[in-house]
Amino acid sequence: MIRVDFNVPLDKQFTITDDSRIRSAVPTIMKILRDGGSVVLMSHLGRPLKKLKEDSTIDFEKFTLKHTLNKISELTGVEVKFAGPCIEDLAFQMSHALKPGEVLLLENLRFYKEEEKGDLEFAKKLSRHGDYYVNDAFGTAHRAHASTAVIAQFFPGNKCFGLLMAAELENAELVMHKAQKPFTAVMGGAKVSDKILIIENMMGRADNIIIGGGMAYTFFKAMGGTIGSSLVEDDKLDLALELINKAKAAGCKLLLPADSVIADKFDKDANTKICNNDNIPDAWMGLDIGPVAREEFVSVIASSKTILWNGPMGVFEMPKFESGTKTMAEAIADATTRGAYSLIGGGDSAAAISQFGFADKVSYVSTGGGALLEYFEGKELPGVKAINE
Ligand code: AMP
Repeated sequence: MIRVDFNVPLDKQFTITDDSRIRSAVPTIMKILRDGGSVVLMSHLGRPLKKLKEDSTIDFEKFTLKHTLNKISELTGVEVKFAGPCIEDLAFQMSHALKPGEVLLLENLRFYKEEEKGDLEFAKKLSRHGDYYVNDAFGTAHRAHASTAVIAQFFPGNKCFGLLMAAELENAELVMHKAQKPFTAVMGGAKVSDKILIIENMMGRADNIIIGGGMAYTFFKAMGGTIGSSLVEDDKLDLALELINKAKAAGCKLLLPADSVIADKFDKDANTKICNNDNIPDAWMGLDIGPVAREEFVSVIASSKTILWNGPMGVFEMPKFESGTKTMAEAIADATTRGAYSLIGGGDSAAAISQFGFADKVSYVSTGGGALLEYFEGKELPGVKAINE
């Protein structure tokens, strides 16, 4: 049985709008089938029970993994069977009747509250579906759920990482433990609070930490600048100063963007101008890094041998504010062509690097958002620990 991450985005007609999570599990599925095994797939899709709590009229149809069946069949060339609810008798009958070369998909694990609770009995029941447990769901490796971690104890000596998970870990370990110097970590995105731990952990490892995106303005406000109506976390001002001081003490260069593309509203058609970051006029907001910052950041990246990138430099979803993120993507791709190693963190940075056409010009694009962040925060991932134990 393989724990995969088929938590794919669906449109209103329940059509998969991005199948990359399914695609990335195919090598592991095919390897097992080629080697004469049969495969039981298990995954979550969204958070149905959480949504049900918020809205009792929720349509459960949104959360059935049936929507992924055709895509899995198409990508593997095998007609995939559907088992229905994952711990019902029918599901066990179907998994026990599987012949070599056949594939069975269990229904959304998160239809049972026991999954996210990491319930031991539920994990034990689930384990009856297979002889061997493979974890290929890097996206949920930071969760101690029944199917991602707890279940592994029922497969002593019969458990391993899938090919995707192994590649994710290999690339993350390369950056964390064997980074060639100079090592530059590029951190962006909306909030400092999400990135504090990773910034702190990178200080002892990276030569440079580049800060961009919405979180940069909290640093400027903390240093006494005026930032107009830019994104800010007022309860993190002291912490921002602390991070600046800690970086100094660790001998790590913390680079903040000198200027921004500012806008008179959060809108794709907003009026814009370029402005220094410590003096943004009232009612204007910084939505991208400016040309001086871009030039400085590009030159730091150009001289780096290892680059870790997590989080966009601005609101890259709007063309007027995409330049900073696009320039960084291009600079990282260029550095990679010249021999640097580059790891792109999941979520928005992965979306940005493909949007701008550089996904195949960097060393590795991770599929894990939260999991990759937690790894670089220095935490042990429960899904990884459960296999290694
Ligand atoms: P995160 O999920 O924290 O990595 O943040 C990603 C989001 O941050 C993206 O949707 C960006 O549009 C947004 N973002 C980046 N820079 C800014 C900014 N200067 N102001 C507001 N939002 C931003």
